[in-house]
Amino acid sequence: SVSRTSEIQEVRLKLPVVAEEQKIMEAVHNNNLVVVYGATGSGKTTQVPQFLFEAGYGSPNSPTPGMIGVTQPRRVAAVSMAKRVGDEMGDHGKRVAYQIRFEGTVGTQTAIKFMTDGVLLREVAQDIALRKYSAIIIDEAHERSVNTDILIGMLSRVVKLREEMATEDPSVKPLKLIIMSATLRITDFTQNTTLFSTPPPVLQAEGRQYPVTVHFARKTHHDYVEEAFRKISKGHKKLPPGGFLVFLTGQNEITQLSKRLRDAFRIGQAATGPSVRISGNDAPIETEDIDFGDTIDDNNDDYDDEDEVDINLDDADFDVGEEADTGPTKMHVLPLYSLLPTREQLKVFEPPPDGSRLVILATNVAETSLTIPGIRYVFDCGRSKERKYDRTTGVQSFEVGWISKASASQRAGRAGRTGPGHCYRLYSSAVYERDFPEFAEPEILRMPIEGVVLQLKAMNLQHVVNFPFPTPPDRQSLASSEKLLTYLSAISPTGQITSTGVTMSIFPLSPRFARILLVGHLYDCLPYTIALVAGLSAADIFIPENQVIPAAVPKEEDEYLTNAERVEEDLRQGIRRKFNKVQKDFCFLDDKSDAIKLLQVVGEFAHEPTEAWCQAHYVRFKVLKEILQLRRQITDLLRTNITAFAGLKYQEKLDPPSAKQVKALKQMAAAGFIDHIAIRADLSPNPPETRRKPTRAIDVPYLTLFPSHIKRDDDDKAVYIHPSSPLAHISPQECPEYIVYSYLQRATPAAATPEKIPKTRMHALTDIT
Ligand code: ADP
Ligand code: MG
Repeated sequence: SVSRTSEIQEVRLKLPVVAEEQKIMEAVHNNNLVVVYGATGSGKTTQVPQFLFEAGYGSPNSPTPGMIGVTQPRRVAAVSMAKRVGDEMGDHGKRVAYQIRFEGTVGTQTAIKFMTDGVLLREVAQDIALRKYSAIIIDEAHERSVNTDILIGMLSRVVKLREEMATEDPSVKPLKLIIMSATLRITDFTQNTTLFSTPPPVLQAEGRQYPVTVHFARKTHHDYVEEAFRKISKGHKKLPPGGFLVFLTGQNEITQLSKRLRDAFRIGQAATGPSVRISGNDAPIETEDIDFGDTIDDNNDDYDDEDEVDINLDDADFDVGEEADTGPTKMHVLPLYSLLPTREQLKVFEPPPDGSRLVILATNVAETSLTIPGIRYVFDCGRSKERKYDRTTGVQSFEVGWISKASASQRAGRAGRTGPGHCYRLYSSAVYERDFPEFAEPEILRMPIEGVVLQLKAMNLQHVVNFPFPTPPDRQSLASSEKLLTYLSAISPTGQITSTGVTMSIFPLSPRFARILLVGHLYDCLPYTIALVAGLSAADIFIPENQVIPAAVPKEEDEYLTNAERVEEDLRQGIRRKFNKVQKDFCFLDDKSDAIKLLQVVGEFAHEPTEAWCQAHYVRFKVLKEILQLRRQITDLLRTNITAFAGLKYQEKLDPPSAKQVKALKQMAAAGFIDHIAIRADLSPNPPETRRKPTRAIDVPYLTLFPSHIKRDDDDKAVYIHPSSPLAHISPQECPEYIVYSYLQRATPAAATPEKIPKTRMHALTDIT
């Protein structure tokens, strides 16, 4: 048995899930599949794995042999929850480990293994019976990430398989599957008979949730960061002690607000932590929070209910009776988002310095995965940044949009864990009622799924439609994924996986990049191709211009700058010049190819893999370090899986490729994107009429060769070069005839006005000659 400190024991006993231990474990003994529902903070993630451990799961020689696996949709959660559970288990703490993509602590002693759902998916592909495990907990199932959905589908079959194996061989034990959710929106699992023929028991741990008073804003402001600043400032002065949790949509906003608060409240650098470092160098790649730095122009979202100017904030909201004005005077501001290094993230769990108020500026990482102690007030901007994907056009976008009502209620709930709380919504109840959907759409309906389809086919599932998806993707996205996989020679025209497809599925890469890899050995290019695809699969190497260069001092045309402002302006110009030079230097091998530029960054970094180099070159250190690891991993996989490459050695430091190799690399890159080619519009068979000759490369129209069915109100079927591409800096006359793009992107339609309909932009990959 586990001996825990009295402090830990006291905290545990207050958790609603602990009160249900007996019921939960009884259900687990009697069923191989159980669903546990409990509000965020009720103790699911930290306690249920320990119940299993104490009941004898998790050891190789116990009656039910094998580890307890716990999946998380986010790396942050996998690492921090492993640490927390380890701490709680006292003398058995060493038996808790985690595994995320390139990093882990798992050993022979491990009984409880926290991992990202992607890690477990790969393991299922290797051993469909998951013999290493006695129990699997799928956590945060309500978030409906693609990986979680696919895992649940697969595990429904693994559970059956293990039952069958157990009846034939008594040394094999059934696998216990526990699905945990923070909301009751679990009918997609429980009522789905293709998934589970009999509905699993649902155990509820009623959270002892204190009442949370929700305050809607009278008016919904466009500039919600500024509005958050005003409400936080006011709230900090007025409200009794208690932590603030502020929900924003991304790293940019968090940095901005953190700076505003620091300036206003004269908080020292140390107190604000690394949020003020604009470089964000230590960033791991996290798909859920990739900050593309696209400034989304929502100035046109005209959702005001009243057009009064309310300088006077809703004072009544902060009227909390006798306790008013008893709060601390200092502020302890901490950021919390996925790209933040883990050690910085873990700071939110530490108590703030005496006499100061904890203020956490978070993305929706804090919505359900992490429970932060001591939060009494929530400030909710009501928005989040999400990947959107247009199934018919293939156009992707990262859009800031309204969250669902379910999410809003999750966010508000964060204020009521330790006592009665308050949630200040930075939007009006009218907007909430009118514009907020009940629930968010499962991610599988919002993403390209060719990777999923390839993985399923590689596991011998020829008809992917028959897979027990909790929410099946629509037939159109399945069909277009199969079409793409056919182009990539991964499947035959009849939908069967080919030997190329099998090989492609071995690599932790999207099918397009895996394809590039497999054509990449011509002209001794393989080491470069490996570096290139490793770089391509990390979306977020470059720190976007708007995060590097400070905003200009806003001035009317006839206004003069003060001396201080002039100094600031000179500084800004200096940074801009340096930024532009760095970008230009990366293009010295080739000035028309994003792919070759990327390869240059990856290559130069290997020669000087330091944080200082990254800082000076406006690229992300942690991402580049991961690319190095991925290069090594891909090399190993090539060597061990393809006989022709049995002698392949890993070369970290490469000489620049020759001109011939550069040309070959561009063609290879195109091999993964043969359906993503655009022709300069004036060269197409029926060129569109142009009113004016474009003066900049980014205004030169292109047409996609494969129809991309772009539905537009203004009939502009053309696509244009994205301003972040090296191609944006050449003259319109030099614009290549053909461009291979990685994906198309368009600013949110909500931001469109009749005068300014946003252009569809190509994230260019390379020209082809
Ligand atoms: P759930 O998974 O149901 O949302 P958790 O098991 O994550 O709940 O959290 C249960 C409780 O444990 C929380 O209310 C929180 O107070 C506490 N807790 C979780 N992680 C930590 C941590 N790293 N440090 C301190 N307390 C924590
Ligand atoms: Mg949890």
